[in-house]
Amino acid sequence: MYKEHIINSKNEQLTSGFRPPNRPTHVGCDYIASDNSQNTARGVDIIALADGTVSKVAYDSARGNYVDIAHNSNITTRYQHLRDGVKVKVGDIVKKGQAIAVMGNTGDCSSSNPNVLPEYRGTHLHLEIHVNGVPTDPEPYLTGAKMISTMNTVPPSATVSSFKVGDKVKVKQGAKDYNGVGLASFVYTNTYDVQQVNDDRVVIGIGGKVTAAVNAKDLQKV
Ligand SMILES: [Zn+2]
Repeated sequence: MYKEHIINSKNEQLTSGFRPPNRPTHVGCDYIASDNSQNTARGVDIIALADGTVSKVAYDSARGNYVDIAHNSNITTRYQHLRDGVKVKVGDIVKKGQAIAVMGNTGDCSSSNPNVLPEYRGTHLHLEIHVNGVPTDPEPYLTGAKMISTMNTVPPSATVSSFKVGDKVKVKQGAKDYNGVGLASFVYTNTYDVQQVNDDRVVIGIGGKVTAAVNAKDLQKV
């Protein structure tokens, strides 16, 4: 039925749309696999809607396990309620159709369907598409009415560091260290060398001596 796919069985069935009148805060679409009951949907792979770079893999009590894929400088797709054991990590380059996780019911997925085993109740995919950070209706991107441009795929600056070893940096006034612990006041006045980079975690120091690990967003190049 759809031209583009987010479930490897290619049998997506919409169960709740974008901001329906009775769910004004529902800023995505819910899908199950139409050739599977919610009971058997437990084994269905979720696939990337388009080429891109994984920009976030996280969990919270509402979204459950979720994955964000940045497709170009302004479109991100988000896949929620994924089963434990997500197959990708931040920074991975993914291709359209690549399996990223298994459909699940982590997070807020209430369902009282008595025909489904309790541990699989509520299994579905909640898909969001953010254009310039604003959630937009995913349906036109599945029907083919709108396309996700995959030109100029760039690593998302918010999570992948743009610093490299040897850069000279200053720490922004008032910033805390990577674990949220306060830093001594002199740290904000010194210039440091970048000694290690691991995504957004940057280790800084002077002359080979480590001073702190800080978040990339709290650093400025000098
Ligand atoms: Zn939803």
